[in-house]
Amino acid sequence: MLITERERETLVQSGWDVAVVGGGFAGAAAALAAARQGRKTLLIEREFLPGGLGTLGLVTVYLPLCDGMGKQVSFGIAEELLRLSIKRGAQSHYPSAWLGGGSVEERTRQRFLACYNPWTFAIDLEQLLVSEGVEILYGTSVCGVETKERLITHLYLENIEGRTAVAVKSVVDASGNAIVAEAAGAGTHVNSVGNVLSSWYYFLSGGEQKLVQFSENFHKLECGEPVIDNVAITGLDAWENSRVLITTRKRMMEDFIARGEKEGGPVELLSVPTIQDLRMTRRITGRCEASCVDHRREETSIGCIGDWRHPGAYEIPYGSLRAEKIDNLWAAGRCMASADGDAWDICRVIPVCAVTGEASGIAAALAVSGPGPDVREVQIALREKGVRLHLSDC
Ligand SMILES: Cc1cc2nc3c(=O)[nH]c(=O)nc-3n(C[C@H](O)[C@H](O)[C@H](O)COP(=O)(O)OP(=O)(O)OC[C@H]3O[C@@H](n4cnc5c(N)ncnc54)[C@H](O)[C@@H]3O)c2cc1C
Repeated sequence: MLITERERETLVQSGWDVAVVGGGFAGAAAALAAARQGRKTLLIEREFLPGGLGTLGLVTVYLPLCDGMGKQVSFGIAEELLRLSIKRGAQSHYPSAWLGGGSVEERTRQRFLACYNPWTFAIDLEQLLVSEGVEILYGTSVCGVETKERLITHLYLENIEGRTAVAVKSVVDASGNAIVAEAAGAGTHVNSVGNVLSSWYYFLSGGEQKLVQFSENFHKLECGEPVIDNVAITGLDAWENSRVLITTRKRMMEDFIARGEKEGGPVELLSVPTIQDLRMTRRITGRCEASCVDHRREETSIGCIGDWRHPGAYEIPYGSLRAEKIDNLWAAGRCMASADGDAWDICRVIPVCAVTGEASGIAAALAVSGPGPDVREVQIALREKGVRLHLSDC
């Protein structure tokens, strides 16, 4: 059954140049980049802390900025955020070969990655965003858009004040689920493979804090305890998500109890994710897709990324951040346009979210003063910020 909502007038707030939706790694990088271009930047976040999966989801492994062969390939805000994440000490995997002047051999053995504390990082990130002039609106969900021709003119927001709207000039969708692109009819693509059940958690044992990367194969869950009727978790069905979360936490608790018994001393559960640990759900349909062909030169590259799984490196084409059917919308992070399969798996991780966030934020900022921008303008601005566009420059 359907009902028709009553027509109503909605208060419009205005005054910003760039609106960034989602304050995970991608959104934080985009907001920083846009603000550094001198744009009035609004960061809209559904939760009450920045970092998304990288803080609230307890995914605290900042995967590598290097190619696995001793060469750094990701620079700019991607490196800045890694350094910020371990400013107060790494939780583990301090990249000493990289930050302490190691040789190429040492850098090949030790990748440029780090594990960080989610809470100190989140607060340091928040302070950085504020100090750069980003205005953060927490506890606010973007729940719709208004469009005119091929442009988004307003975002609809829901929060403690009810429903309001914000007038926008350009938008970065860093929601992880392509919320804005879907609402704007910009073209989206759903992950047909689905997600496995995951819930990373911390526990305390013998005075030591330990991270458990708890992830289960969904098919195993099905055999053991058929609570959920679907085979793969799409992440796009609120009822399914809720059932999955309840089951996941039950399984995670069993895992914790079993670990506690093995530790042979008192253990304490320290933190559990407060957002759902979903890897790939929905992404934009871009003007092209990042296909991640090893060492292929992309003339429109906006930055380079390493393969977190094994040695390898890729250039990201600008078109993979641009929405197909809307001209003032860019995407960043796990909802950018990467090809299905390996490419999406490579592009969804933290350093890539930061690389694509910085490029989207710069493009959205440049677009405020006129149509476009041309990819060359984006590339010039990125170079000025220290980003290496091609692997041959690294
Ligand atoms: C189990 C698991 C393990 C992983 N392991 C690793 C790893 O070891 N290393 C690694 O680098 N990566 C890993 N990843 C991937 C990585 O953590 C994420 O893909 C990355 O952090 C995503 O960043 P993002 O900014 O694109 O999205 P998110 O972190 O999802 O951020 C999106 C933000 O948007 C907000 N939002 C959503 N909808 C709205 C809305 N309508 N209005 C306003 N705000 C909204 C959310 O609250 C969130 O803060 C893992 C992921 C998972 C799930």
